[in-house]
Amino acid sequence: MLLTCLDLEGVLIPEIWIALAEKTAIPELRLTTRDIKDYHELMRKRLQILDRHSLRIQDIQSVINTLEPMDGALSFLQWLREQGQVIILSDTFTEFAMPMMRKLGMPTLFCHSLEIDKEGRIANYHLRMENHKAESVLRFRQLNFYTIAAGDSYNDIAMLQSAHEGILFKAPQAIQAEFPQFPAVSQYLDLQEEIAKRAARYKS
Ligand SMILES: [Mg+2]
Repeated sequence: MLLTCLDLEGVLIPEIWIALAEKTAIPELRLTTRDIKDYHELMRKRLQILDRHSLRIQDIQSVINTLEPMDGALSFLQWLREQGQVIILSDTFTEFAMPMMRKLGMPTLFCHSLEIDKEGRIANYHLRMENHKAESVLRFRQLNFYTIAAGDSYNDIAMLQSAHEGILFKAPQAIQAEFPQFPAVSQYLDLQEEIAKRAARYKS
């Protein structure tokens, strides 16, 4: 059976931290792993920034609520869910993603979680596990799923490598050039075609 693992941000919805930076006019929130390589250091920094601006989870969720899935994301996801199982593997947090997941028809999402205190302050974050995207795919393979993974960024590469087939979607040129072993597309219809081609090959 086919199981497709999709990244979330940059693939189905906009980048949440970048949208937050824009909507709150706090440019520091644009920091990514490209600026601070160590993910934990980056997260500590982000939580400090939120604290400094007294941004609570409710404030953040109301900003995220104003975002919409990318054009075509919903119909692509509906198509994909008719082809086999779909699991979204993301490095975001359940509390951030929830408003967007409603807009996507509540597909299955595996991601991390936040620790929120009584006042709504984000006190800490908890990773499901390190490298959970690739680890999940490896376990789906042990369950005899034929796995296809699609993502747009560095944090997806291990997942793409672990799957039977990996596809870069809307990835920046630099990432496409660094990982030429993966086909790269940037439109949902093209991604649909790439997935359909592979699924047909697997069935035959
Ligand atoms: Mg992404």
